[in-house]
Amino acid sequence: MSELRIWNARAVDPGSATILDRATIAVSGDRIVEIAEAAGDAPAGAIDVAGRTVLPGFIDAHTHLSSDTSRSPGFGPASQLKGEDPRPRELGWFLLAKSCTAFLEAGITTVRDVGAYDDEAIVVRRAVELGLTPGPRIRTCGRIISATSPGGWHFGTMYEEADGPWEVRRAVRRQLRRGADFVKLMSTGARSVEREDPEPAQLTREEIAAIVDEAHRIGLRVAAHAEGLEGTRFAVEEGADTIEHGLALHRAPELLAMMAERGQVLVPTLSTFHDLAERFAHEWVPRLVDQAKRQLEDAYRTLAAARGAGVTIAMGFDSGPPGANLWEMVRIAEGGVGSMAALAAATSGAAAAVGLPDIGRLERGAVADLVVVDGDPVSDPRVLLRRSRIRLVVHDGRVVAGRDLDGPAIGEPAGDDEPLEPPTGPPSPCLTHS
Ligand SMILES: [Zn+2]
Repeated sequence: MSELRIWNARAVDPGSATILDRATIAVSGDRIVEIAEAAGDAPAGAIDVAGRTVLPGFIDAHTHLSSDTSRSPGFGPASQLKGEDPRPRELGWFLLAKSCTAFLEAGITTVRDVGAYDDEAIVVRRAVELGLTPGPRIRTCGRIISATSPGGWHFGTMYEEADGPWEVRRAVRRQLRRGADFVKLMSTGARSVEREDPEPAQLTREEIAAIVDEAHRIGLRVAAHAEGLEGTRFAVEEGADTIEHGLALHRAPELLAMMAERGQVLVPTLSTFHDLAERFAHEWVPRLVDQAKRQLEDAYRTLAAARGAGVTIAMGFDSGPPGANLWEMVRIAEGGVGSMAALAAATSGAAAAVGLPDIGRLERGAVADLVVVDGDPVSDPRVLLRRSRIRLVVHDGRVVAGRDLDGPAIGEPAGDDEPLEPPTGPPSPCLTHS
């Protein structure tokens, strides 16, 4: 059984908003077995982190794992040149493996995939479990359950279309058969499809109720894509466990109150609205860009209203490239929630969204996913965006990434920081037409 002891750390547990200075954290196997004040000299073999901050490993509750090799600049291979050999589709598997490494290097130790093409996320999860590639803990919905819709045409194998209560129940059963860990449904249309109006519900209340009932009966949680208010209302009232996007909720305080009471989690995905409204506006149908600008304002209003109502908030980047995920945490922090609550959204809040209560916490008995950081993310969350500041990443009790992975450079000061640019590269496949 692997043993690990971190010495002289500033231990920050965002979920409980507690900070313990000069802490020692002991790990046995994949669990934290002790967090206490470090007294005296460091025991032999302990990793002295010289007062640096230790946080729980970060969790992205809204990702789309994608093998799209055109994901460049910034992440995938350089664009193909004329005369170059055609690129085999199988290169995509290497890109998925690279994504998994990029998550770990950024301190992301768990991702929830909310829809991938061709069941790729299920295969990658298996590859990580079998030790074929380093990677975070992956939970995936398999295919997204949608009504027959224009989005089904756009998103192809990311969707499973079904209509009527019995067909949608069958679609839930198909996801379980396929290897899904939870179920995702489209309660409304998508902001990225010209012929879909995200305002009205797309599935009926009866269909959403059937999906939730079927999933919960067989032990699967339900994530609901929800943009307009009607579909969001159906999803909240019928018991979806997480509301993805959920930007209309500021218009319905009674739904936020219900979510807070029942423990339904909001995943606000601010970054995806920045993508469509700003970062990639030049690539999109103008009506969708105008709509996204309004949605961006709505999303920030809902973030504030949800925080006020006591709703659990989870970080979900829904953007790219892989490894830039903590930009979403920074946006949550700077969106008026504050850094400790934003760090909680990226740890304990996202753990609640994934439905894994043993991750995202820095306490005895929790899973030993840890990140050692140079600097103080509680006063400046942007330090987490700088790769040179990520000193060690521990996943399931083992050191897997970080600047000090290959040796104890931990005593050295932070290197020259690379410039802090907003992420480059294409948006989430959630916005990418197949
Ligand atoms: Zn998405």
